[in-house]
Amino acid sequence: MAAIPRDGRVFVAGHAGLVGSAVVERLQEDGFGTILTATRSELDLRDQAAVNRWFAAERPEYVFLVAGTVGGIMANSTRPAEFLYDNMLIHGTVVEASKQVDVRKLLYLGSSCIYPRHAQQPITEDQLLTGPLEPTNEAYALAKITGIKLCEAYRAQYGCNFISAMPTNLYGPGDNFDPVGGHLVPMLMRRFHEAKEAGEPKVEVWGTGSPRRELLHVSDLADACLFLMDHYEGPGFVNVGTGEDIAIRDLAEMLRDIVHPGAELVFDTTKPDGMPRKVLDVSKLHDIGWRHRTGLQEGLLETYRWFVEQDPASVRGLSISAP
Ligand code: GDP
Repeated sequence: MAAIPRDGRVFVAGHAGLVGSAVVERLQEDGFGTILTATRSELDLRDQAAVNRWFAAERPEYVFLVAGTVGGIMANSTRPAEFLYDNMLIHGTVVEASKQVDVRKLLYLGSSCIYPRHAQQPITEDQLLTGPLEPTNEAYALAKITGIKLCEAYRAQYGCNFISAMPTNLYGPGDNFDPVGGHLVPMLMRRFHEAKEAGEPKVEVWGTGSPRRELLHVSDLADACLFLMDHYEGPGFVNVGTGEDIAIRDLAEMLRDIVHPGAELVFDTTKPDGMPRKVLDVSKLHDIGWRHRTGLQEGLLETYRWFVEQDPASVRGLSISAP
């Protein structure tokens, strides 16, 4: 299979987000000449007519569909309508417009929360739709499942070369550091940082600390996305992760030691634990020839260095507290 041409017209849908910005950076590193992007005000990805017009004018040949309304466990469980509506529409419009202009290849990004709450760990791809979902992220998971099925249906019915990847929990520079709606790593990193600045010795961690999560650095995910575009064409989707997980308590201690050594962790068990464990079986991805590179300790350190170097006004989720 030929790698996608570096002089092709590539659209990164969702370029301003954590994943999209890492994908754009990875494509630039690899010498792609035409990387198309559209801001939210230029193009509402939930509007099929607008998306069709944009595709007809810009004529992308390759699409990274990494756009979506995303968030951590609290955002997911308190805003189910937005998570379901936005995400169903976004993948619907982009997939349909891609078919209309004969996009040569599209990569759709799902999420590891598509799998049943009690899936066997590590989670193999074939466990999709084998049991009830985790309630705290059911709306998002349902939208992502229909996205995968949509790509498979367009492949089966229209012969479109659309593939899907299922990333595990992500972190890295450019994350959303919102104090309520963010994911585990940026929220904890921010809380440890603010406690250190305030001279506060106790730091709150949500839940019991016993759930386990797998964490992948976003630059590794971006690399895997390009790798799959270049080297994978099968009908089934592919898990993307490290295959290694860590208890929330151990992760919190790791972050504490990086950001605010000596601080005491206080577990707030009124907050949800969510999935008891989420770690992907990445054998399929390893067999195709890709492995992650960034170790967790190294990736967290690098993300923290990035965080402290930013102007608060330019960090997503921090603008509200910016001077
Ligand atoms: P999930 O992987 O879809 O459940 O989403 P998150 O990335 O938000 O991770 C949620 C897990 O981390 C749950 O087990 C939470 O109890 C735990 N957790 C601990 N502290 C925090 C925190 O400050 N923010 C978030 N989002 N989760 C936390």
